[in-house]
Amino acid sequence: MTPTPEDLAGAVLTIDLVALKDNWRRLNALAGKAECGAAVKGNAYGLGIAPVARALWEAGCRSFFVARPKEGEELRELLPDATIYILDGLFAGQAEFYAKRNLCPALISIEEAREWAAFGRVYGRRLPCAIHVDTGINRLGFSLAEFDSLLADAFTMEGLNVSLLMSHLACADDPSHPLNLRQREAFAAVRAKLPGVAASLANSSGIFLGDGFTHDLVRPGIALYGGNPTQDVANPMSPVAILEGAVMQLRYVAAGDTVGYGGTWTATRPTRIAILGAGYKDGVPRALSSREPGGPAQVFISDRRCPVIGRISMDMMAIDITDLPVGAVRRGTRAEILGRHIGIDAAASWAGTISYELLTRLGSRYARLYTGLESDRTA
Ligand SMILES: *Cc1c(COP(=O)(O)O)cnc(C)c1O
Repeated sequence: MTPTPEDLAGAVLTIDLVALKDNWRRLNALAGKAECGAAVKGNAYGLGIAPVARALWEAGCRSFFVARPKEGEELRELLPDATIYILDGLFAGQAEFYAKRNLCPALISIEEAREWAAFGRVYGRRLPCAIHVDTGINRLGFSLAEFDSLLADAFTMEGLNVSLLMSHLACADDPSHPLNLRQREAFAAVRAKLPGVAASLANSSGIFLGDGFTHDLVRPGIALYGGNPTQDVANPMSPVAILEGAVMQLRYVAAGDTVGYGGTWTATRPTRIAILGAGYKDGVPRALSSREPGGPAQVFISDRRCPVIGRISMDMMAIDITDLPVGAVRRGTRAEILGRHIGIDAAASWAGTISYELLTRLGSRYARLYTGLESDRTA
C-alpha cells in the first residue's frame, strides 16, 4: 500500500479551513457594517497562503493585506479579483511591478505618494492606493504633519486614487490602554481632512474594542488563525492549526534518572515516558523544554494532558505519561502539541513568546493536511 504523507512524516500539521472560515464569518458579523478583510502576510501567518486565501475568498473575504510586493504577486495569481494592499508601502522604483499586478500600496510617505502619482501619470491613470497615517504606534506611516503636507500638495493628490485611509493600533490587545482612544481621536481628525474615503483602523483585537474602532474595513490576522484577540476572556475563535507528533518509543525511567540532552530533567518517581517525533525543526519551540516535573508545557494525548519533560531536541521531545492507563498510548499514537486542547496562546506563553511567532515559525518537515476547502472537493 502506498503510504500517506502522515505515515512517513512523524509530525502532522492539520489546518482546519472550516474553522478558518468560521472565524472570518464571526469577525465579519462582529464588525457590523464594516467590511471584513484579512491580513495574510507571512504566508498567512505560516499556515499557507494558497489554501488560506482560497478559503477566505470562499467565505466572502475580498480585501487582503500582505507585507511585501513579492507576497502580493503570489496572492494575485491565486485571487485575480481580490483587492490586495501592500502594507510595507511602495518599494523604490517598483511602481510598475505593483501596477501590472493591480497591487495597492499602503503609501507611508510623501516620497512614495509622489512616486506613485508620477508613475500613474505615465501609466495613464490614477492608480488606487491606501494612505497609511501613523497615529501613535510610531512605526510605518505619514506623521500627522506629513499628512497635512500631502494634502497641501494638490498636484500629487490629483495623481492619486486614494481608496483607503488607514492607521494601525499599538495596544489594541489591552482594552484599557489609553493609547487606543488617543489613536482613535487622532484618526478621526485625519479622516475629517480627507472626507469620503473609506477608513480602516482595527486589527483583530481592535475589532473587539467596539463599534468606534471598526470604521469601514477591519484587518484581522491572528484571530482568523485561532489566536485569542481578547484579554482575560476565553478565546472566542476556533483553533485552526493542529500540530501533532506521533509516539516513536515508550520507556520506563527509574527515580533519579534524567531525560534528554543536558540531563536537565530528573525523575522523582518511577516514570513512564513517551518519545514523540516532533522537535524544533518541526516548529516546536525549544523554549517549551521543561525542567520541572509538572511542566508548565503540556501536550494532549489519550484524552489527558501530559507534561513535556526535558529538552526539546531537533527531531523529538519527551512527555511523562505515568498518569495514563497502561496501554493507552502505543507506538504511532499521536499527541496534540498545538490545537484544540493545547491552545496556541497557552503554548506560546509557556515558550515565552506570542501566538504570532509560534505560528509563523512552524517548520515545514511534518505532513501538512488541509481540511475543508470547497474548491478542492469540486476540483
Ligand atoms: C499584521 C497587521 C494586521 C493584522 O494584525 P493582527 O493583530 O494579526 O490582527 C493589521 N494591520 C496591519 C497594518 C498589520 O501589519
